Amino acid sequence: MSKVLVIGAGGVSSVAVHKMAMNASIFSEIHLASRTKSKCDSIAKSVKERTGEDVTTYEIDAEEVPALVRLIQQIQPQLVVNLALPYQDLPIMDACLEAGVHYLDTANYEPKDEAKFEYKWQWAYQEKFREKGLMALLGSGFDPGVTSVFAMWLKKHKLKTIRQLDILDCNGGDHGQAFATNFNPEINIREVTAPARHWEKGEWVETPAMTIRQQFDFDQVGQKNMYLMYHEELESLSKFVPELERARFWMTFGDEYIKHLTVLQNVGMTGIDPIKYQGRDIIPLQFLAAVLPKPETLGETTKGKTNIGDIATGEALDGSGEKTFYIYNICDHEDANRETGNQAVSYTTGVPAMVGAAMMLTGKWGGEGVFNMEQLDPDPFLEMLGENGLPFEVKELAAPLPF
Ligand code: NDP
Repeated sequence: MSKVLVIGAGGVSSVAVHKMAMNASIFSEIHLASRTKSKCDSIAKSVKERTGEDVTTYEIDAEEVPALVRLIQQIQPQLVVNLALPYQDLPIMDACLEAGVHYLDTANYEPKDEAKFEYKWQWAYQEKFREKGLMALLGSGFDPGVTSVFAMWLKKHKLKTIRQLDILDCNGGDHGQAFATNFNPEINIREVTAPARHWEKGEWVETPAMTIRQQFDFDQVGQKNMYLMYHEELESLSKFVPELERARFWMTFGDEYIKHLTVLQNVGMTGIDPIKYQGRDIIPLQFLAAVLPKPETLGETTKGKTNIGDIATGEALDGSGEKTFYIYNICDHEDANRETGNQAVSYTTGVPAMVGAAMMLTGKWGGEGVFNMEQLDPDPFLEMLGENGLPFEVKELAAPLPF
């Protein structure tokens, strides 16, 4: 029986709040606050219709720390679940510290004026959370999130060490639009246009964005082109799985997405430095995000499946030599939409956010300080994830990836 405050009212929040309401024995009181209250109200309405549970809504700018502290003190939740944007991570962590409440998010902090995905800003809060006896859980989405838990599950049940790790993120869904992103367009395009980086022999190897491409045949999706990218769990995995010789992240993109993105980049529309337009400063990427379809509107039209997982090679636990395992989840966009009114990219993020919150509220995961997913027991998390719509499959491969 716990009270939770969720911040942000986009696609990920919508899924997480629906799923919390479906687990009312853990989430006995749900409060939802965001910049635009009407979006909270429409989530609350859908939750009431689908589950019969009540969600109380508020308007808040999460970057206004004193106002957020007042809201947290008024509600007195056990946990704040941050499903706003990465820019708000630090102010929300500050407010949690001041109000004495545990914290969870799904994406690492990013400064607005620099497309840098690094844990250093949030890891710097370690002592502050520890001193207050509070827990902050970072990156409890799918990637980051489940992909790290998958790696730790393999390390607990199949492999003594992980020498090589490849994370493969495939969205085989078709939303019927010429160009749209499946989560917040500004964050998505910042991520995709940043240089690729992977971990090799103890250092980062950087290559220009979207230049290394391979093909892979994804279960229930088929053959897709995937591109080497940087993704934030590579940083936490390289810290918490120190024996890793190589860790890479791949994401699939269709030719149409690449074509549109290339043009937008070439004409300067993905820039994050302000330009003058009719006498005022605008940021091209923010303007672009405003004209693109909103991810939460794609639920009705998106068909197909996502397939996200890890391929890990290392020394087998049973002493049988080097082995390669593939652990993944498949999620159907239409099933996700039927259940929560959102497509699978929001679903695969919102469900692990709910499960991470449940782990903290039930005491299955606990501690004082700032935690990444790799530091906690993968078993109860994956068990609850499977019961809540995201089961995993694991199989042994004959060999590591040939590239
Ligand atoms: P959306 O853009 O759909 O939603 C973000 C929400 O945050 C909006 O409701 C927005 O308000 C609100 N918000 C923005 N700024 C503020 C503020 N200052 N104060 C209060 N609320 C604010 O994003 P998504 O739902 O797609 O993504 C949510 C989070 O999940 C992001 O951090 C994203 O990076 C992360 N994510 C993580 C993934 C993972 O696997 N780990 C995968 C996908 C996403 P408004 O409605 O007014 O704009």
